[in-house]
Amino acid sequence: MKTLLLLSLVCSLLVSPRSISADTVLMADSKKVSVVEYLYADVSDANSILATINSGLLSTYQGKDRAAWQQFYRKKRSKLAKELERLPTSGLSGGDSRAIAAMRKQMKAFTGGGALFSPVAKCQDAARKDIAYPALKSALVACFVEIGNSLSFEDGKINRVSALDLLHETSDPGRRKAVFFAFLPLWQAINGNNEPDSPYRRMIAGAAAEAARNGSEIDNAARDVGLDPAEVERWLVQILDVWRVSSGDAMIEPWDFRFQAGEADRLLGTYIPRESLLPINQRYYRDLGADLEEMGTFYDLYPRPEKAALAYTEFVTHGRMVNGVWRPTVARVSAPYERGGLFVLNELVHENGHVVNITAIRNRPAFVDWPSDLFDEAFADVPSWSIYEPVWQRRYLGHEAPEQLSLRALYSVVVLDVAWSLFELRMFRAPLTDPNALWTEITSRYLHIVSHPELSWWAMRVQLADLPGYMVNYGLGAILTAEMRQHISEALGAFDAGDSRWYGWLSEQLLRYGSERDTRTLMQNFLGRPVSLQALLKQIHRLKPITLQSTGDTDSAGHAIFLSPGYPAGFSQPSSQRPQSAWHGYLWWDLPTRQ
Ligand SMILES: [Zn+2]
Repeated sequence: MKTLLLLSLVCSLLVSPRSISADTVLMADSKKVSVVEYLYADVSDANSILATINSGLLSTYQGKDRAAWQQFYRKKRSKLAKELERLPTSGLSGGDSRAIAAMRKQMKAFTGGGALFSPVAKCQDAARKDIAYPALKSALVACFVEIGNSLSFEDGKINRVSALDLLHETSDPGRRKAVFFAFLPLWQAINGNNEPDSPYRRMIAGAAAEAARNGSEIDNAARDVGLDPAEVERWLVQILDVWRVSSGDAMIEPWDFRFQAGEADRLLGTYIPRESLLPINQRYYRDLGADLEEMGTFYDLYPRPEKAALAYTEFVTHGRMVNGVWRPTVARVSAPYERGGLFVLNELVHENGHVVNITAIRNRPAFVDWPSDLFDEAFADVPSWSIYEPVWQRRYLGHEAPEQLSLRALYSVVVLDVAWSLFELRMFRAPLTDPNALWTEITSRYLHIVSHPELSWWAMRVQLADLPGYMVNYGLGAILTAEMRQHISEALGAFDAGDSRWYGWLSEQLLRYGSERDTRTLMQNFLGRPVSLQALLKQIHRLKPITLQSTGDTDSAGHAIFLSPGYPAGFSQPSSQRPQSAWHGYLWWDLPTRQ
């Protein structure tokens, strides 16, 4: 095993990141398929260029404005639909048949540049009992936009992102509780008074019925890991149970959970002003062998009124062969960053994990696409988890938080995602379940959060309405992230402070296939065995529980919190005495398209 691993490593190091491996089939076997495939590439590019223009980032691309691209898209798309129909159904190679299936599937997702994350529906429609599942879903997403972007707090309005920021930063417990309750109108819009026919409860029944017909995100994720859905539930529970045991017994109010976990963010925020986010990110990826500037990646990182209120990454154009030379993928990152901070930086590094994932694809046009939701989210965290390691912080920030505080900041987010994954899995299985009772049961048992079944405070993630079942890609994704990080460290050595071989090696080993390989096969080949839980559990076990007296930041004594023995006394000053610039942006929603 070890020899094989070393051999493959040596071989891959002989190949430069930009070169194309001999065994990657970049062309169709049939000439007819090849022609259609390059037509597909044109349509696919026009689709993503239109989305780029509609995002407000650019008004023209390659000398054409929106109207010109729309015309180009419509014409080529209808030609593509006809040509795909005309292709022979037999006598094709396996690769060509799979490519045709992939094109048909991916084409269904083309919107012709429809604005991402800006639903045309209205939140008030969520109260209507006569609308069908898709319309109800859109109405709930609209509630996140209409109400979530305008929460009343003190004398003004804040958006959900700022409210979540404040939950991390506000040292006054009463004020923190008031921030939490600013979400109430959103929770009510999503789940009414939790009556059996509340908007969410009607929506999840529709989602479960739809999943019974066509499968769910949870089924997809289970298949991608190689588990049956019942095993997925056992894995999620196991992760939560490790957290339950290692995080002590003291109960904490839901409005205090993020604050208690956010100490590392508060310590390091001062060293990460908004202007430093991109330079730090670029430097880290350069050290990993990926020059994002050279790749021509577009960044659109500041808020605009009409802009999507979340971070995401998308293709601008898809890589392909042009006259025998590989023309690389160009990606863009969109985010509404009002401030810097550790969590925002983590998110930006995650987004750029998506960028390097898609720029590394070297395949025929049909497969130059995202591998799978589960893989995409998991891989993006491979580089981003490093920023919670002291060695990374030392190199890129010049300062470090105690390891235990950083790990707590990271894994508290991971276990919340796991909790939401379990919540959705159980709602799908039994859609008549009372969601407030279920969320209370999960969070009180595993996260030691005080029961508040009267509140629908689970309704903070827009994915719950937009893509029911999607949360599992984060919950289970963490298992894959930990596996990949462990395997890379074994093969290449630690990469938390950079390793110039990283991008080239991963391109070769994992990323070049695009959507051609299913995630289960990809991971099995990469690891040399099926995915297991152990790498993630080992990481969570790095947390050492220490029970301390109350810090004065909460209103009950004896909370168990994670602290390193070397926790410096000076760091225990109340947050209110720290500079305002230490506030960090906490972007809670991380949506597809790759988020
Ligand atoms: Zn993402």
